[in-house]
Amino acid sequence: MITPKELKETLSGISIGASTCNYSIETCEKLTPIINQINALKKQKNTVILAHSYVSPDIIYGVADHVGDSFELSKAAQSTNASTIIFAAVKFMAETAKILNPEKRVYTPSPINGCSLADAITADDVIALRKQYPDHAFICYINTSAEVKALCDCCVTSSNVYDIVDHYPNQNIYFLPDELMGKNIEAYLASKNSNKNFKYYSGTCYVHEEYDPDMIEFLRLNHPDAAIVAHPECKPSIIEKSTFVGSTSQMVNYVKTTDHPQYVLLTECGLTARLQMEAPEKQFIGSCTMCKYMKSNSLGNILNVLESPQPELEIHLNSSTISKAKASLMAMFKYAS
Ligand code: SF4
Repeated sequence: MITPKELKETLSGISIGASTCNYSIETCEKLTPIINQINALKKQKNTVILAHSYVSPDIIYGVADHVGDSFELSKAAQSTNASTIIFAAVKFMAETAKILNPEKRVYTPSPINGCSLADAITADDVIALRKQYPDHAFICYINTSAEVKALCDCCVTSSNVYDIVDHYPNQNIYFLPDELMGKNIEAYLASKNSNKNFKYYSGTCYVHEEYDPDMIEFLRLNHPDAAIVAHPECKPSIIEKSTFVGSTSQMVNYVKTTDHPQYVLLTECGLTARLQMEAPEKQFIGSCTMCKYMKSNSLGNILNVLESPQPELEIHLNSSTISKAKASLMAMFKYAS
């Protein structure tokens, strides 16, 4: 059992973010009974809670059993013994957990189930593209629906995308759905004099797309020693100006193992909140950019799933989609290892 005072102390290091990420004692008094109820119920109901780094800190530090990026959470989903998984993130991640655990019940707590990248491409789009480019291997970012994954040869995450594309056996590769990441991969392949014939789709993440190179110039002018740490879903003009580029887990590792006077994290601001908690000696500057889909998860809707799960929040996939999408995920585990 946690008390409001303990919760307030736990979350006291967070200063970047809107009211969602600021914790007064009054807020903690409201949240604590929900956190204690969730933690008691998840044990009774043999349930594991997986949370992406972008969800609210009260979920991450109050009730989550595993916190991480898509790749880390896919691995956690693969190894859990719990009979039920609640995936506090977005729908495509909960689908990934279901693909890896078809016998388990998987729930996404938020009824708002979007992602601007995953929503950018449908299974029909992939079928048409495969007809257009029959000699290409299709590599999909994990931010895709299960049906799209089922039509692709290999899935990737931001942790392993550069390596997998670089080492994938086919010379002709079609990457989807992220155009900005596609441009960044193209630049990476060019820097290695790769002879891959590389094409990509036109989706974008509305959160990472917002970052503007002028903002980086401004930050560099005012904080010349700050490390600019960017996610590969940002524009190439941002990536070029960054000190380090990596997935959220790689960004966490970079901040924890380097010693810059300040850090600017160019990704959803949940990650800055997380690092303010886990690396309190580091200084963070910059703006807060929130993902409305990730932040639609709440302690309240997690409790609802535990108490009386609404059928529409459970992930259902047909067996053919599961087996084909699993092959795409297994190819990722194979090439990433
Ligand atoms: S941050 Fe972007 S890619 Fe991630 S869930 Fe939100 S919209 Fe999708």
